[in-house]
Amino acid sequence: MLNLVLFGPPGAGKGTQSQKLIDKYGLIHLSTGDLLRGEISQGTELGLEAKKLMDEGLLVPDAVVIGMISNKLDANKDAKGFIFDGFPRTVAQAEALDTLLESKSSAISGMVALEVDDDELERRLLLRGKDSGRPDDADPAIIRKRIKEYNDKTTPVAGYYKNQDKFTSINGIGSIDEIFSAIVAVIEKY
Ligand code: AMP
Repeated sequence: MLNLVLFGPPGAGKGTQSQKLIDKYGLIHLSTGDLLRGEISQGTELGLEAKKLMDEGLLVPDAVVIGMISNKLDANKDAKGFIFDGFPRTVAQAEALDTLLESKSSAISGMVALEVDDDELERRLLLRGKDSGRPDDADPAIIRKRIKEYNDKTTPVAGYYKNQDKFTSINGIGSIDEIFSAIVAVIEKY
């Protein structure tokens, strides 16, 4: 099984690269951000609670996203593998993911981190906000809050995978195809 964690701050290009990786490797895409937006558009209680935090640029509680990922792993038992996009975002989530995969006799193959500086992220997210309609992409203050949440709570997750010798970082600035080739080169070594 190929289980890839695609890592990087909001606006790093994880979603774009995930689509290309799915096409190439036939993986299931698990984006907790997409799953949460799905809950919001269905008007579920979970979605309503999550929306308040998401609109503020804050992370939703670990238990909420871990529960969603657990359900998706159970629902896709015959998958060739998964791309985790926007998850894990805390060390507690990374530990829970290891436990979930272990219980299925599987494991993370590796993490690929897309490196993009904060100014470029802010520029990309504001641009994306014009099309995406996402409230959290529209306001520079919220964008900066999301980047701060990432720097405070999510960057330690890279260390978690470094300790397991599963971490590779690549330059996230360049053409979509250049970045894709760099990710594929990493995956081919797993
Ligand atoms: P994203 O689409 O990955 O940028 O996520 C949008 C928002 O959803 C984030 O700013 C968080 O509020 C929430 N979110 C998505 N994934 C997670 C996660 N793994 N842990 C906590 N909050 C998350």
